[in-house]
Amino acid sequence: MTPVVQAQGVHKRFGRLEVLKGIDLEVHEREVACLIGPSGSGKSTLLRCVNHLEKIDAGRLYVDGHLVGYRQRGDRLYELREREIAEQRKDIGMVFQRFNLFPHMTALENVMEAPVQVRRESRASARERARALLDRVGLADKEAAYPAQLSGGQQQRVAIARALAMRPKLMLFDEPTSALDPELVGDVLGVMRQLAQDGMTMIVVTHEMQFAREVADTVVFMDGGVVVEQGPPEQVISEPRHERTRAFLSRVL
Ligand code: ADP
Ligand code: MG
Repeated sequence: MTPVVQAQGVHKRFGRLEVLKGIDLEVHEREVACLIGPSGSGKSTLLRCVNHLEKIDAGRLYVDGHLVGYRQRGDRLYELREREIAEQRKDIGMVFQRFNLFPHMTALENVMEAPVQVRRESRASARERARALLDRVGLADKEAAYPAQLSGGQQQRVAIARALAMRPKLMLFDEPTSALDPELVGDVLGVMRQLAQDGMTMIVVTHEMQFAREVADTVVFMDGGVVVEQGPPEQVISEPRHERTRAFLSRVL
């Protein structure tokens, strides 16, 4: 079966700084991969490459069997146009550390926006689906609230519902709970855990080791732009093979 995400020797540099130094990664349908590692190791950059927000400099990156940002004909690669890139990105949902909701729209309007504007769904059907999604993230009673009237955890759950409204094949989470007060983290992780149980393919950058232990199929430890070690959580978290992994875990556990 074609992996949902396949990275082969992915390199990315910003000027003279090489941030990704040959990343190999495969995430299959219905799998959850948790990306862990110290700040500055390239985790966000890797997610941004997968989501077409950054261009890679070398290697190959496929999402759903399609080369990200390029079309291949024979041995030649052709850069995709903006419109083609937008088409590819439609199937990827992303949730950031900061909630990034539209402040002038209610929770319901936030969730309806992309299906109506991008997918050209009717407002009636988008509204019905948005209500179901708000219900799914435990916010059925908050549809009329504006972001400023919601807690950080509630805003983040609206952000998840908003991403799901586009019916993504892949969800990317970049430290979705890092900006939250501790007592609000559990609800967000609970929604993500449910999503994983429902079979969503997910890549999650997180420092929540308990979540990674319970939910991840694969834990990927990155440091200095390389994947130092990857495997099931009971191996990488409980019995890390590399000194760098052990040193990192001793700081976050
Ligand atoms: P992580 O998410 O693991 O903390 P990042 O992917 O955000 O790491 O960053 C990896 C490195 O790349 C850091 O040194 C960061 O400063 C640098 N970096 C990230 N984005 C940019 C950018 N747009 N321009 C220049 N340097 C960047
Ligand atoms: Mg980051």
